[in-house]
Amino acid sequence: MQNTDIDKLLLILREMNFDEYRDPITTGNTFQDLLNELYFFKKEKERKKKKIDNIIEHITNCFCGNFFNKFPISSDEDELDVICLGFNTYIEELQSVVVMKEELEEINTKLFLEKERSLQLSSAKDEFMSSMSHEIRTPLNAIIGFTNLLIQNKDITDLQKKQLNTIKKSGDLLMVIINDILNLSKIEAGQINLENISFDLSDTFQTIQDAFELRITEKNIAFQVKIDSKIPDQLSGDPNRYSQILINLISNAIKFTPNNGTIKVSFTLSREDELHHYIQFEIQDTGIGIPGHKISGIFEPFVQVSDDTARKYGGTGLGLAIVKKLTELMKGELDVQSEANIGTTIKVTIPFYKENRQASSSEYTKEENIVADKHVPSSNNQINILVAEDNLINQELVKAVLAFYNYNCIIAENGQQAIELLQENDFELILMDIMMPVLGGYEATEIIRKMTDKRKNSIPIIALTAIVTDSVTQKCQQIGFDAYLSKPFDPAELNQKIRDLVIK
Ligand code: ATP
Ligand code: MG
Repeated sequence: MQNTDIDKLLLILREMNFDEYRDPITTGNTFQDLLNELYFFKKEKERKKKKIDNIIEHITNCFCGNFFNKFPISSDEDELDVICLGFNTYIEELQSVVVMKEELEEINTKLFLEKERSLQLSSAKDEFMSSMSHEIRTPLNAIIGFTNLLIQNKDITDLQKKQLNTIKKSGDLLMVIINDILNLSKIEAGQINLENISFDLSDTFQTIQDAFELRITEKNIAFQVKIDSKIPDQLSGDPNRYSQILINLISNAIKFTPNNGTIKVSFTLSREDELHHYIQFEIQDTGIGIPGHKISGIFEPFVQVSDDTARKYGGTGLGLAIVKKLTELMKGELDVQSEANIGTTIKVTIPFYKENRQASSSEYTKEENIVADKHVPSSNNQINILVAEDNLINQELVKAVLAFYNYNCIIAENGQQAIELLQENDFELILMDIMMPVLGGYEATEIIRKMTDKRKNSIPIIALTAIVTDSVTQKCQQIGFDAYLSKPFDPAELNQKIRDLVIK
């Protein structure tokens, strides 16, 4: 071989063996140099082949599931190692993305479970509300019902009548409060419709004050009231909701003021515009006060200043949440100033319409109507009424009301007994409670409506229940009740319904 040929071959081989990481293999141009370059080339090819096989095997493993196995890096630091290093960085990134994805999935699962839990809680809350509504309304029904009956008694003195009226009004007020507490969610959802009727502020406040009289006397609290003479006799607005605000604030002031303390209450006409009178109610007590950093929290539902508030003073922490929501609803303003161990001053300013053409005193005359019910009948003694009611006090109340209107009545303890009594006797009407043991009111009414005897299956049935949800009213209609009355019922209204259905 010519020297020039060796040179040409060496040039090609050196180009092929060239590596920027490494010194050249040979520098001469002898035949031995040529051989050394060739041997090196062969060894290098074998080494790379082995390495590539290794990488292919690794990739195959990856496809079999070992995604995050890193590529092997040799000490050669050649181009394959650089590629593998690049891949390994990529794998690390991928791995952290997958970890993040798993974390996200975990968070999603937790969120899903939380959502399920809150749905369950919300339905438990609904159930609780509905049964609480029932439990509270039932005894209240008796209180209001018997008071209504006593008021109509001609033998009572004027003073007794006045006292009974106070019980009745307080009972009615309590009913409004229970309804609204049960419907706090409704207030929050903005589903409360405000009334707009004219009312006398002094009278409204007097009723509230009468209801707290006993507590005030018991605690020997100096209770001072000032009503600005510039406030008009009649205001237009929602007296029940307004009362609810006042009641909650007065109740708090009395509750959190120790014996022999002072509570100052004032109503002032703070300003007026073309349409409104802005009435500011201010209540100042010398009670335990609220630490500054706690003031903003007390308007949240179920929040009390300290853990032992409920134990020491009672309450659930709902009052001020209702006050705040109602004040917002009435477009009013609320301000609290308080100092621990000194006392609290709360101001609520509410705009009331100056003039309200739709306003009427109907709400009040309606209340008075209960006292002066014109339909005190004397000729109802032919009418036999079957009353299905399991609660003993309610049985007594319905019996007394029906006797007052001269109806005959027979009591069934539950739906099953009502059906049996109806099969054996003739009645003109049934008063049916809904929640009863053995057989409930819905089921009993369904059975009655399917009876073959035409006179029995078409008997007028009035549902009388303490559960007051829209779904109950709808269900009553579907099942075939002729009318619906919620407890506590107004005796005059019950009488009217009976007359509508039986006497016609
Ligand atoms: P509820 O009103 O449901 O019967 P409550 O009175 O505890 O219970 P809120 O009326 O909402 O609940 O009041 C929340 C908390 O604010 C109270 O528990 C009490 O810690 C504090 N608070 C409210 N009014 C006063 C006050 N006049 N003086 C001192 N603390 C008060
Ligand atoms: Mg309260």
